[in-house]
Amino acid sequence: MTRYIILDRDGVINQDSDAFIKSPNEWQPVNKSLEAIALLHQHSYRVVVVTNQSGIARGLFTQETLQAIHHKMLVAVRDAGGEIDAIYFCPHGPDDQCQCRKPKPGLMNQFSQEHDVGLFGLPMIGDSMRDLEAATAVGGQPILVRSGKGERIVDQAAKLNIPIYENLYEASTVLVNA
Ligand SMILES: [Mg+2]
Ligand SMILES: [Zn+2]
Repeated sequence: MTRYIILDRDGVINQDSDAFIKSPNEWQPVNKSLEAIALLHQHSYRVVVVTNQSGIARGLFTQETLQAIHHKMLVAVRDAGGEIDAIYFCPHGPDDQCQCRKPKPGLMNQFSQEHDVGLFGLPMIGDSMRDLEAATAVGGQPILVRSGKGERIVDQAAKLNIPIYENLYEASTVLVNA
């Protein structure tokens, strides 16, 4: 059985930085996140990444650099025995009025159309309210991790009855054993 899962990138797969992740060198995995993606892959989950990358609009890095960062991520995931099926990113800034920057669900819908996959009930893991709101907007199953910026919104998420896990590895362990 094939099933999809949508992951935020910064703070979920790799360590986040308030100064943005601007180079492949700055991309460093969260503890056991690569093993987590491998675990999901081994349990027939197809992993899709949906990420806001406003650093492009802010002029902090180019699309080419983002591709290089993603190349590093894909290779690291593959070396760990995992697989990322697709990466969707929003290159816009908060004031650009685009439809793809989370909490807008534009990228989720684009994924849904391109892969012919319904979003209802799909697990969507993030570390910010924007991620959780985008998941809720499309009827997905929002899941919070404490890694990255997640710790800051634990109380908010708890009030919304959103499941909270230490990190992607813990969340993945629970999902594959469900
Ligand atoms: Mg994040
Ligand atoms: Zn956008």
